Amino acid sequence: MTYPDTRLLIDGEWRDALDGRTLAVLNPATGEEIGRVAHASTADLDLALAAAERGFQAWRRTPAIERAKIMRRAAALMRERADGIARLLTAEQGKPLAEAKVEALAAADIIEWFADEGQRVYGRIVPARNLAATQMVLKDPVGPVAAFTPWNFPINQVVRKAGAALATGCSILVKAAEETPAAPAELVRAFVDAGLPAGAIGLVYGNPAEISSYLIPHRSIRKITFTGSTPVGKQLAALAGQHMKRVTMELGGHAPVIVCEDADLELAVKASAAAKFRNAGQVCISPTRFLVHDSVRADFVAALAKHASSLKVGDGLAEGTQMGPLANPRRVAAMSDILHDAVARGATVATGGARIGSAGNFFAPTVLSEVPLDAKVFNEEPFGPIAAIRGFATLDEAIAEANRLSFGLAGYAFTRAQKNTHRLAHELEVGMLYVNQPATPNAEMPFGGIKDSGYGTEGGPEALEAYLNTRAVTVMNV
Ligand code: NAD
Repeated sequence: MTYPDTRLLIDGEWRDALDGRTLAVLNPATGEEIGRVAHASTADLDLALAAAERGFQAWRRTPAIERAKIMRRAAALMRERADGIARLLTAEQGKPLAEAKVEALAAADIIEWFADEGQRVYGRIVPARNLAATQMVLKDPVGPVAAFTPWNFPINQVVRKAGAALATGCSILVKAAEETPAAPAELVRAFVDAGLPAGAIGLVYGNPAEISSYLIPHRSIRKITFTGSTPVGKQLAALAGQHMKRVTMELGGHAPVIVCEDADLELAVKASAAAKFRNAGQVCISPTRFLVHDSVRADFVAALAKHASSLKVGDGLAEGTQMGPLANPRRVAAMSDILHDAVARGATVATGGARIGSAGNFFAPTVLSEVPLDAKVFNEEPFGPIAAIRGFATLDEAIAEANRLSFGLAGYAFTRAQKNTHRLAHELEVGMLYVNQPATPNAEMPFGGIKDSGYGTEGGPEALEAYLNTRAVTVMNV
């Protein structure tokens, strides 16, 4: 396959950086350079910002029904091009080709949902106290948006932001991840080819901290949206706060999985194993803290370990690969560190537990049991293919442990008892709870966290609210 160099999209044109700078893109399965990505400087950003202002004026004046038509064309292009896009995504990010294709196709679905929902952004008329007056509530697009997205779902994380922003009439300037630039560029290309006005969408790469510290305070930008780690999210939210910018933050998680004594164990293993090792565990809603009732714990550990050890790990482009490499060498180092810490504190390795080979960023699907609460893996987001398991005796204990950390993104539970489900639904401090099933983060449902996992949501009608100003207009009809 040929992997392209990725350029910046500024004012509807694909361009090199003005100073010609580029960064290397590596294949995580081999560690080899496969291409380059343009590295923007502030001169490029100034052009992109001016284009985003013009793009906003053109796009906000495009009727919602016309915006929806263009967005649907972009969705159709994503579907048509999904095979090729998936190959680029796997080459730069590592996930198995089948997962990459699902991500490309899901983008089409998300665009269509937002295209439709954008036509249902209504204001309202509120009965006035003085009958001669009219009270109106207007919803307007907030303005040009700056979006910052990471490398684990390079298409999905951009499309959730772009879908909502464009559906409401905002323009959006995306700073996608330098490590995985080509797949998000293809998503942006689909919007451009579908007929989006110049500047309504822009795409830049470069030094993340330099770009965010330039864009967030900039007067042209009215809204910030970020997906990534909690520490970086807090920095960006603080900067946005200083400049009174609207913010959506989709940050890290450490998802508890509560397996009750009455759970369908086969279902619990099947659903959580598939979710755990998807994208080699580099998923913000990945199941990570397994809390399993003592009466079924040994069986659960054995079954999860059996599944993990049967997975075919390899290059995501190779036929039959079920788990690819980690996306970058930082994750391999992090896995080794987490693993050694847990073992030193008394955890047992049920399967895996080591890097595979020396080329590429491969790490074995790993199951740890008897993990003590003070182990790093039970406190810091692991973001990799390690499942950490410990037991519990009562549901009170499991809920307390689930809520102990400052994270509050996803949670999972397996139980047949209505009274357990009711308690979990009301007491687990998570933004998304899935009971007796894996995650199904569809566009129509809210997607986001609470507590240190961020604020705002990237699905459902609330996702559009995040890109709208609510204004009151009261008219005395003289
Ligand atoms: P990181 O925290 O430095 O980077 C995470 C993402 O944020 C990257 O895409 C990076 O380009 C971007 N980023 C970093 N500093 C930035 C800044 N000042 N301004 C704008 N963007 C910035 O580290 P990393 O090694 O890439 O990832 C480490 C951790 O990040 C993971 O362990 C995981 O906890 C978290 N993460 C979360 C998600 C998610 O989906 N929520 C995605 C990727 C990484």
